[in-house]
Amino acid sequence: MGSAMDERVDFLVIGSGIAGLSYALEAATHGTVAVFTKAEFAESNTTYAQGGIAAAVGEADSWELHEHDTLVAGAGLCDPNAVRHLVRSAPDAIEWLMETGARFDRENGDPDNPLALGREGGHSRHRIVHHADKTGWEIERAVTNAARANPRITVYEHAFVTSLLTAQGRCVGARVMLPIGERKVLARATLLAAGGCGMMYTHSTNPRVATGDGIALADAIGATIANMEFMQFHPTTFYHPQMRGFLISEAVRGAGATLRNHLGTRFMYDCDPRLELAPRDVVARAIDAEIKRLNTWCVYLDTTHLPPERLAEEFPTIGAKLAEAGIAMHKHWIPVVPAQHYSCGGVVTDLDGRTSVPGLYAAGEVASTGVHGANRLASNSLLEAMVFGRSAADAGAHEPAPSEDVDDRPVPHSIPENDAIAIRRQLQKLMTDHVSIVRTDAGLKQAKKGIEKLIKSYDAAPVAPFSVYALETRNLLVAARHVVEGAAARRVNVGLHYNEDLT
Ligand SMILES: Cc1cc2nc3c(=O)[nH]c(=O)nc-3n(C[C@H](O)[C@H](O)[C@H](O)COP(=O)(O)OP(=O)(O)OC[C@H]3O[C@@H](n4cnc5c(N)ncnc54)[C@H](O)[C@@H]3O)c2cc1C
Repeated sequence: MGSAMDERVDFLVIGSGIAGLSYALEAATHGTVAVFTKAEFAESNTTYAQGGIAAAVGEADSWELHEHDTLVAGAGLCDPNAVRHLVRSAPDAIEWLMETGARFDRENGDPDNPLALGREGGHSRHRIVHHADKTGWEIERAVTNAARANPRITVYEHAFVTSLLTAQGRCVGARVMLPIGERKVLARATLLAAGGCGMMYTHSTNPRVATGDGIALADAIGATIANMEFMQFHPTTFYHPQMRGFLISEAVRGAGATLRNHLGTRFMYDCDPRLELAPRDVVARAIDAEIKRLNTWCVYLDTTHLPPERLAEEFPTIGAKLAEAGIAMHKHWIPVVPAQHYSCGGVVTDLDGRTSVPGLYAAGEVASTGVHGANRLASNSLLEAMVFGRSAADAGAHEPAPSEDVDDRPVPHSIPENDAIAIRRQLQKLMTDHVSIVRTDAGLKQAKKGIEKLIKSYDAAPVAPFSVYALETRNLLVAARHVVEGAAARRVNVGLHYNEDLT
């Protein structure tokens, strides 16, 4: 493989989740697109999304109500223009997805009926468009098939983007490690759609690819990153001492599930008048407090009062996974704990996904568009990824051709994987102990010191052959530093940020 500019495309996309592929499909109407994705095509947070996509498409709904609910969840820190762009574009985005091939549930299962709409915490109306409890899988299936069929889109799997290329202050592409060697790819517009960073915590609903790479790539070229302290923890992740946790969708609470401690008490009565349908941060903090108060491992989600046939129809995937652990939803309480779920902050963009670095765009979970403010309203993230991803593609079409006079920038080195494993474990413990649902000033200081020490250890470790795991670990450290710095700087408790010393 040559070492100079090996490839030139109009649009370069980093990531093949909903943000990357919505962008790619739109960008292909303007030019050639290369999508680089570090694992298999469909391995992304998108694939694991269960509940659905929020859109005011119901009879009794309106974009104004969706806007109101989004602003309330964001606790005063949303960008109202971004929210309006999101909610007004939502019905079109659903149409676009269906035209692209996504199938959504209809009322009473009849294809001629209107869309069946679920309701989740913080939504004042039924407005969650879904495909049973595997909506993300269905969306990813549809956009993946459409991208594969598009002759202007080339998708490279197991293609790890190690750094962004710049020339005279512009982003002009990226350096990518492919199974056949390294390539430099020049593009007029580069989209960061690298998803979240859940792997910085011990418990996360995210898959293994969520390692904050997009944050670190943007950080390395000086793009503005903000609001990373607003880390959403999903209140109800299946807890089992031996099995890997998985998400018990909010839709289960929407269907009427109740939360109980091991004594059977419905503790949400003492926390919030909206009970189990209070916003996620409220429910997550309530569970965290209850677990600490009773010194237990978990609390329980009770679905035993719901009709078994309804549970089977609406939650087939969750039901099947629980059955592997010997739990029947209609008979047993489900043990649950909160786990890291979604990063509201990220690389700051405008309404067209432009970052502070010309030529570089961001969409999806890696971006901070202003939509979520201090807390994301449930099911707004797939929507945001799609809406801003598609706007970014249209904006990118106007970017100039990239210069070949690329800056020489040092690229992080790999270290032995055993060292990387030890560093990642320590990072996860630091973040889980000090930078999760409830924070303190002393804990944040300790986390900051610990992360700086881990970055030094990484940089001082011997250079080893290329390792995705090692470079991801370096990226997680950079992303975690943003979370801690954001949390330390935020001197008021708002939305997802809760520091005990500020109350
Ligand atoms: C369990 C679960 C349930 C959820 N449920 C919902 C829901 O019901 N509704 C909702 O709106 N949201 C939900 N979310 C959130 C939502 O799924 C994500 O926010 C959204 O899918 C993010 O899409 P994305 O395209 O930004 O990132 P992702 O879908 O995570 O895609 C990121 C892509 O970037 C690639 N990548 C990363 N780094 C690199 C690199 N260095 N080089 C090359 N490629 C790279 C990854 O391999 C991946 O392909 C859920 C999330 C989880 C984890």
